[in-house]
Amino acid sequence: MQTNFTLAQLADPDVATSEKILRTCVHCGFCTATCPTYLLLGDELDSPRGRIYLIKDMLEGDKPANEEVTTHIDRCLSCLACMTTCPSGVDYMHLVDHARARIHETYRRPLFDRMTRALLAAVLPYPGRFRAALIGAWFARPFASVFKRIPGLSEVAPMLTLAPATLPPRTDADRPGVFRPEGERKGRVVVLRGCAQSVLDPGINDAAIRLLTRQGVEVVLAEGEGCCGALVHHMGRAEESHVQVRRNVDAWTRVIEDGGLDAIIVTTSGCGTTVKDYGFILRNDPAYADKAAAVSALAKDVTEYLDLIGLGEPTEASGLTVAYHAACSLQHGQQVTAAPKALLAKAGFVIREPAESHICCGSAGTYNLMQPEIAGQLRDRKVGHIEATAPQLIAAGNIGCITQIGSGTDLPVVHTVELLDWAYGGPRPQKLAGLQ
Ligand code: SF4
Ligand code: SF4
Repeated sequence: MQTNFTLAQLADPDVATSEKILRTCVHCGFCTATCPTYLLLGDELDSPRGRIYLIKDMLEGDKPANEEVTTHIDRCLSCLACMTTCPSGVDYMHLVDHARARIHETYRRPLFDRMTRALLAAVLPYPGRFRAALIGAWFARPFASVFKRIPGLSEVAPMLTLAPATLPPRTDADRPGVFRPEGERKGRVVVLRGCAQSVLDPGINDAAIRLLTRQGVEVVLAEGEGCCGALVHHMGRAEESHVQVRRNVDAWTRVIEDGGLDAIIVTTSGCGTTVKDYGFILRNDPAYADKAAAVSALAKDVTEYLDLIGLGEPTEASGLTVAYHAACSLQHGQQVTAAPKALLAKAGFVIREPAESHICCGSAGTYNLMQPEIAGQLRDRKVGHIEATAPQLIAAGNIGCITQIGSGTDLPVVHTVELLDWAYGGPRPQKLAGLQ
């Protein structure tokens, strides 16, 4: 694609990066075939190619974001299916990240939209606040249908509907510490505690820690670490996300300098994609560029690391039939596709792969809260394909997908690592208590 940026515009390193990305697009349109929003809405401006044109026009013309650009970029799930499909290697992720930051800086959203976004950014990345908000949501839940009918407050309804009826208790994986390996130490890793997942389902990291330590891996839960920054990053709140990213880089660099690390393990693939991108996010920060790149180089999805170290033979081969849901952030964002299925199959589960496995379930960070209609349609489509495989349960590697899919089916939805922990000597996941 031909571009016409001035030298003054290209002096901005973010614009220079986006210009390079824009030039790689040959407008072939192959990406439209796998874009969930184009699939549902059929509007070129809700396809990757259409969004690329909108972004080009905004950046090239040095224009503030307008309502049209904002509407179509907001509808993008950042699922990155378009990147997997694109034959020209267009780096859509960094382009849309830049566009979201430009929108945040230059577009004045309607009041309720601004308030909702500010609230989500102030609550979700902080486990204490998120826990308190979920308890509040539980009390407000009976009024969800009332909110739905009030203009301007209708977006509150899906937030209340998605809030769980009960919250699991806190566990040892909730605070900094070191979990010693069983037997000889074969490795040393950090496990990201995360934010929303640590409140919604702390059992996921508990399972990862049990499994890793049984395999001889020491697990460090780092002091000073917090949210990975993805939640605010995907809202275009670049400065806030950079603060969160730098804090984690500092926390993990201290662990690296104090005993070394083989990997930084992430059990929420949406966060994993962002941690792997820290090097890019802080590339223009001289004080952090090298440290952030070192952190990104160590980041691994939990299944990637388990595949690397090898798990041996399972102690409990259940033979249960599992529909494996490939989270977009894992399959498109990190290109981790084979390891989770191979590990589950080796652990004795029968794996079913639903149709349209490349299409998003509609979770996408805060997308199911901000765009509930599209997210609901994608969820129902996903659940239909999953249930058509007649599984006994569903496995996924991302808490967002687990919550989203779980809200549309009676089948139990668990994290891949919970099944692996069970198969290799850990407890049966509580959600599977009734399964034979
Ligand atoms: S497939 Fe790639 S090159 Fe083709 S239009 Fe889409 S982003 Fe551009
Ligand atoms: S990231 Fe997903 S929703 Fe956004 S343009 Fe690409 S395929 Fe479409």
